[in-house]
Amino acid sequence: MTDEKKIENVIVVGGGPAGYTAALYTARANLEPLVFEGFQWGGQLQNTTDVENYPGYPEGIMGPEMMTQFRAQAERFGTRFVTDDVDRVELSDGGVQKVYLGDEEHLARTVILAMGAEPRRLGVPGEMELSGVGVSTCGVCDGAFFKDRKVIVIGGGDSAMEDAIFVSKFASDLTIVNRRDEFRASKIMHERAAERPNIGFKTPFVPEEFVAGEDGKLDHVRLRNAETDEVEDFAAEGAFIAIGHIPKSEIVVGQIDTDDEGYIVTQPGSTRTNIGGVFAVGDVVDRTYRQAVTAAGTGCMGALDAEWYLRDTPPSPEAHWQRGGEPTEIAPKVT
Ligand code: NAP
Repeated sequence: MTDEKKIENVIVVGGGPAGYTAALYTARANLEPLVFEGFQWGGQLQNTTDVENYPGYPEGIMGPEMMTQFRAQAERFGTRFVTDDVDRVELSDGGVQKVYLGDEEHLARTVILAMGAEPRRLGVPGEMELSGVGVSTCGVCDGAFFKDRKVIVIGGGDSAMEDAIFVSKFASDLTIVNRRDEFRASKIMHERAAERPNIGFKTPFVPEEFVAGEDGKLDHVRLRNAETDEVEDFAAEGAFIAIGHIPKSEIVVGQIDTDDEGYIVTQPGSTRTNIGGVFAVGDVVDRTYRQAVTAAGTGCMGALDAEWYLRDTPPSPEAHWQRGGEPTEIAPKVT
């Protein structure tokens, strides 16, 4: 029998706080998790600077550094990592779950889905075409490229405020463009942005087009007043889009219950999905809290739910005859 046909106890799909916490807990339960952490492992925290609201770090910590520590902690207990993106899955209610990298098939009795979420796009002309030459969805990644430049940040939530505060350290002049006069952001984040001398606000406006100059780079943004419909060209060499996120559930949509926005639906108070043996954790489920600490918390829940499932569910006939298909011995709980 080839190695590919080994049936894993647990495959975790995703390498953010939720996925790594699920890996840590299942590794400590001797389940030897296999984690497909994604090519850009670390999730959204990989694009974050200071994290000041994760308990246990009184001085704060940089997002990428925190993810490196999460990963190392899971690795210490035997987690195996594949730094690549899963192409597709075939989920089976109570059966053997199949996870594919291209044609390479990986089998598991349980899967913990932790793919997270990604930035939402405006869907207007020039947005994709000028990506990397003025238009960005990641202030922390690209802000330093706009030293002494005039930039805008689009959005009115905490992400927009956070991006604006960071990018304003480099930009000469930064304008936050929001489609409403009210801001969704928390008061403290809004105030912090408003306190910065080079940050201004422009409401209620929506971008209609990102327009390049002769050099092919962003030159101005065509803004429409959401109340009067008047259009104006607003000069900006950088535009940061920070209008929320969409769940990265595309590999399971159609196979598992999702809501109207694509968030995976789990049973209340649990990480169980409608497919036996498949659990979902972190931002791919959570449209409300979306914090590193809540993602990590549900990662823990997913690991325990998978552990209990393996303990209580006899292997499917398909699994029984394959290597690794024998009942799983759960290690005594160590606290
Ligand atoms: P969000 O809270 O959903 O805010 C999205 C913003 O984009 C809103 O102002 C929304 O306007 C606007 N928007 C959405 N679609 C748009 C469109 N097509 N055109 C123009 N504007 C559009 O998303 P978020 O800011 O990414 O925050 C997500 C969660 O993470 C929140 O819970 C937030 O508190 C949290 N977060 C916290 C921190 C922190 O504490 N440091 C930092 C970042 C994020 P409307 O208000 O009109 O819908």
